[in-house]
Amino acid sequence: MSGLAGPYRKVYVLRIGHRPQRDKRVTTHVALVARAFGANGFVLAGSCSDSVERSLRRVLECWGGEMHYECGVPAKAYVRSWRESGGEVIHLTMYGVPVERVIDEIRASPRPKLVVVGAEKVEWFFYENADYNVAVTSEPHSEIAALAVFLDRLYRGRELLYNPSRPGKRVVPSARGKRVTGGVEC
Ligand code: SAM
Repeated sequence: MSGLAGPYRKVYVLRIGHRPQRDKRVTTHVALVARAFGANGFVLAGSCSDSVERSLRRVLECWGGEMHYECGVPAKAYVRSWRESGGEVIHLTMYGVPVERVIDEIRASPRPKLVVVGAEKVEWFFYENADYNVAVTSEPHSEIAALAVFLDRLYRGRELLYNPSRPGKRVVPSARGKRVTGGVEC
């Protein structure tokens, strides 16, 4: 695995509770935030979604970056086997320990990290089986925002400077307009 997750080998995001009719867009955004903010795996529990997979693959194809993708996995079994194989599980929840209190400990651990985000009501199993229940504020908001802030804290903002795009394709930051150089047409 390449990229920012390097020191940890693996930082995967597990999306649980996806509702096929309602959550396509939010789940797609969770996957895109995972990629852009330095995770190297995205796992969609329960059913697969053609639309989520198509969007993620299109971005990977167009903008590059390496990312492990899986879908249709049973969430609880995935969490159990992640821990059994030596990884740690971080469940993002408004009821958890504030991220600023626990992020140094999480960052210091070299174990592969599985970051779990929910959709609707999250089963008690995930609270009990997480190594860390982490809150990004104790207010209710969004899995997309919570994931972005968590990864940003984990990487201390280095992900903002990291460009997962394939060599040659670059956005040229500009105060106005949209400039992209190199890479494939997409
Ligand atoms: N009502 C749900 C529950 O019982 O946990 C939460 C629904 S919320 C829309 C969806 C997901 O966003 C949560 O499962 C959690 O992963 C994430 N989330 C929302 N607010 C959060 C916060 N303040 N801190 C961390 N994660 C949060």
